[in-house]
Amino acid sequence: MQYTWNDIEQHIAACTCCPLSRTRNRPVMGRGSHQADIMLIAEAPGGQEDQQGIPFVGRSGEILDSLLRDCGLTREEIYITNIVKCHPPGNRDPKDEEKEACFPYLKYETYLLKPKIIVCLGRVAAQRIISADFRITRQHGTWIYRKNCALTATYHPSAILRDPSKYEMVKEDFYEIVKKKTEWMD
Ligand code: SF4
Repeated sequence: MQYTWNDIEQHIAACTCCPLSRTRNRPVMGRGSHQADIMLIAEAPGGQEDQQGIPFVGRSGEILDSLLRDCGLTREEIYITNIVKCHPPGNRDPKDEEKEACFPYLKYETYLLKPKIIVCLGRVAAQRIISADFRITRQHGTWIYRKNCALTATYHPSAILRDPSKYEMVKEDFYEIVKKKTEWMD
């Protein structure tokens, strides 16, 4: 069966496939352009996202918007989502079984979007999407290629909240993402 964006959204809204459904306020579906070339994937919604049902609101969202602005991108040009769509209590990392239960939704989002570039935001996303032993400190900003897609990872904006000195480093990674988009699309 061929699902549409609307079908996926409805499934996520009613999903009880893992225990996070019992503690969430609102599941958080990906947002952005369904024609985007760049897909950003983080690990899980935070507390404010859980309240509003929108990814990357609050202070992490402000940092992401600033990074995008610095690189000449807007949220309307990209698609942002998470590995798990429901907020893990206490902002803990999502458990393996939660990531696996939710992964089909991410697969459908990726299938429908067909991004040219996937950017993992943070260790948890990079280790699920790129490789299980991915080291964000050493490997952020590096690229791998799968079929017609280039994949990279950088720090999650919340890491910049904890350590503002990381901002410039992450901005450099975002510059490279924009450069890759230009090269990769030519
Ligand atoms: S995290 Fe994913 S699998 Fe778990 S309840 Fe939410 S939508 Fe369903």
